[in-house]
Amino acid sequence: MNLILLGAPGAGKGTQAEVVCSRFNIPAISTGNIIREALKSGTEMGVRAKSFMDAGKLVPDEVVIGIIQERLANDDCKNGFVLDGFPRTIPQAEALDKMGVRIDKVINIEVPDETIVQRMSGRRVCESCGASYHLLYKKPEVEGVCSKCGGTLVQRKDDHPDTVKERLNVYHEQTEPLKDYYLNQGKLCTVEGQEDVEHTTKLLLAALEA
Ligand SMILES: [Zn+2]
Repeated sequence: MNLILLGAPGAGKGTQAEVVCSRFNIPAISTGNIIREALKSGTEMGVRAKSFMDAGKLVPDEVVIGIIQERLANDDCKNGFVLDGFPRTIPQAEALDKMGVRIDKVINIEVPDETIVQRMSGRRVCESCGASYHLLYKKPEVEGVCSKCGGTLVQRKDDHPDTVKERLNVYHEQTEPLKDYYLNQGKLCTVEGQEDVEHTTKLLLAALEA
């Protein structure tokens, strides 16, 4: 089963990708990870990616897609894969189609912006040990203090409401049009993200088996 997981930043794609992978015994392929792998193992595309990164430039789509193509040719993708965080734009999706990568289903995890902002802006991390907390869902025993090591809890810049809103705007502009793109191909399944992660997983697995 060849899948794409689609969803706004903070919609819980990564967590669900892990569940799907262990359930169907297929690898999760996230672009960040495979670019790092390709750089390390020095594949042809890895070498090309490195030349862009060394020059302080973004790795262009064609190179990212080349790296994905190399990765999908590995034995562990024989029974399928989950693409997490790619494609992010219509041109990337078109390139994937042109390359002949067969996609069976695209699971879109839909979570309202307000919920994402609330979830992410409640996150706190310990400055000392990196333990994570949430003001609503996983409170420390003492406010502002790490229950594990007594360190100070801080909000990461990435979790600040303004940063989250900016990332959501980019998502709506560049990535969300993919919903229509895959709807037109008859591949889109939308799952409403639930407050409870396991509940979302249940809906997602039901959508995959449908
Ligand atoms: Zn700590």
